Amino acid sequence: MTSATRQHPLVELSGVQKWFGDLHVLADVDLAIDAGEVVVVIGPSGSGKSTLCRAINRLEPIQQGEIRVDGELLPEEGKALARLRADVGMVFQNFNLFAHKTVLQNVTLGPVKVRHRSKGEADKRARELLDRVGVGNQADKYPAQLSGGQQQRVAIARALAMDPKVMLFDEPTSALDPEMINEVLDVMTSLARDGMTMVVITHEMGFARRAANRVVFMDGGRIVESADPETFFTRPTSDRAKDFLSKIL
Ligand code: ADP
Ligand code: MG
Repeated sequence: MTSATRQHPLVELSGVQKWFGDLHVLADVDLAIDAGEVVVVIGPSGSGKSTLCRAINRLEPIQQGEIRVDGELLPEEGKALARLRADVGMVFQNFNLFAHKTVLQNVTLGPVKVRHRSKGEADKRARELLDRVGVGNQADKYPAQLSGGQQQRVAIARALAMDPKVMLFDEPTSALDPEMINEVLDVMTSLARDGMTMVVITHEMGFARRAANRVVFMDGGRIVESADPETFFTRPTSDRAKDFLSKIL
């Protein structure tokens, strides 16, 4: 189904509740993300941002509520879950590349195993994606031979190789040296312009202003504010958001 004919949000969380023991980490979270939307999630450390992201591809189970991806309820386990996860690309702070595989192998593994592409087809597409993120000439190297910024761009290419419907980014530039942050943000900005649906946890407010359709501010496991970036950054309504912004801007 194309985004033009899709009747439902691409990602939809309703009444989501999650506890770690006594700690209420996701407190009645409702969030609907349309195809092509770029949502930046911000908030203090420990506010539940990573848990929210991980819940969307069920790396974290939830205790109450519903999460749907492209209209389908997240399955509990098994093949259905693997299929659904393949639609949700994830990029982490620490790249998480396979250290003993080359850059090219990192990008082709998922498509061959999960999407059942032929090796030739997967190689061709991987090289296109590596070119696109600016590391086409690193295909035969191992992750440790690359800079952090290059590794993170490979991780983005690896996620894209699965043809995900949505991409989740959990602080993708937090582990990078300052001079490498922009090369990763530039790739993400270009993805956003190309219409990729994205959920991005980041402290990079320049990226949020430039690329986000919506900023979601979390505190204490709740979505406290949700607004377009212009409104959020110039006229935040809650004291908690005002306080957070005064500390980071
Ligand atoms: P954020 O990404 O906003 O910093 P997290 O989603 O990582 O926040 O964490 C939210 C809260 O849940 C924090 O208080 C954190 O310590 C706690 N937490 C996260 N993962 C676990 C876990 N596996 N077990 C227990 N508590 C956890
Ligand atoms: Mg986090």
